[in-house]
Amino acid sequence: MAQVDVIDLRSDTATRPTPEMREAMLHAPLGDEQRREDPTVLELEELAARLLGQAAAVYLPTATMGNQIGIRILTRPGDEILAEESSHLFAAELGGAAVHSGLSTRPIEASSGRFTAQQVRAKLRDWGRFHTPRTTLLAVEDTHNASGGSYWRPEELSAVIDAARDAGLKLHLDGARVFNAAVARGRPAAQDARQFDTVCVCLSKGLGAPLGAVLAGSEELMERARLEKHRFGGAMRQAGVVAAAGLYALRHHVDRLASDHARARRLAEGLAASGVGVRLDRVETNFVQVEVGTDPPAAARRLAEHGVLLSGTLEPAVFRAVTHLDIGDQEIDAAIERIPRALASVAA
Ligand SMILES: *Cc1c(COP(=O)(O)O)cnc(C)c1O
Repeated sequence: MAQVDVIDLRSDTATRPTPEMREAMLHAPLGDEQRREDPTVLELEELAARLLGQAAAVYLPTATMGNQIGIRILTRPGDEILAEESSHLFAAELGGAAVHSGLSTRPIEASSGRFTAQQVRAKLRDWGRFHTPRTTLLAVEDTHNASGGSYWRPEELSAVIDAARDAGLKLHLDGARVFNAAVARGRPAAQDARQFDTVCVCLSKGLGAPLGAVLAGSEELMERARLEKHRFGGAMRQAGVVAAAGLYALRHHVDRLASDHARARRLAEGLAASGVGVRLDRVETNFVQVEVGTDPPAAARRLAEHGVLLSGTLEPAVFRAVTHLDIGDQEIDAAIERIPRALASVAA
């Protein structure tokens, strides 16, 4: 067996900055980001806006903050927002929509994280009546995390965007992994992302920066986003030292996401060939959903003993493996060998 250490497939947030990325951080020109005097942050914002087909962008510490600011500047307290029920926005941000923006939330049920124009229309309320909250925003997540990294097909996106616009809704894209989606679609992220009012991208997932995110939109919206960023406590100082990592990632780590997808596919097929329950049809980007049997805690223990870390999903008997920058072919070979042995030892 190849000599590799513990294989951390829990998330694509597990990456460490590469030597080249650290080099870029070391030499980045710096200034006061809060005063818009950090050249590296400004350069990152400009490149991100361009890659997303938007006029402007705001550098932020996290994509959670990006989502929260995005929905904040597109709504008013008392509004109702639509998103898929297991979306990060609804299921993983501690009720931020209610806390920060006074919004009520209306979930759309969809097993793949992707829904239809008809489903959007069915959720709209007749807010001309006295009692009903105004539905003003639709949020879309691409790729969709909880369903295992599924990506929106261009025609599906156009259909829900048209339905939302017809109903006068604003549109927010939680594109934490939008570059994975773009690579899977085989067309530039801008082509789809430009259709949204606001787009949030995480730089510390598959792109491999240690932290950071970007919110993009029109000049006017991003001016408001900067105020909210300050209010949320996200305005920074010599942030270029980390923004340099994000800038490096946008320049060098977008196209390589295709390798993560290919490795996820190879891992899934290798596991399936060894009799592990894997949802091959669900492997669309860099996630693999692995069935672990009737004793998930024991499975997690055994996997760790065999030197593989997976993480849980919304389904207790399904774990996920996520490929990323720090997972090479050797790690995939080792995982294909270790995971079946670990799971067999649970069953025994
Ligand atoms: C990880 C993630 C976020 C939040 O990103 P952070 O930078 O960790 O705050 C938002 N949306 C989706 C879909 C994610 O996967």
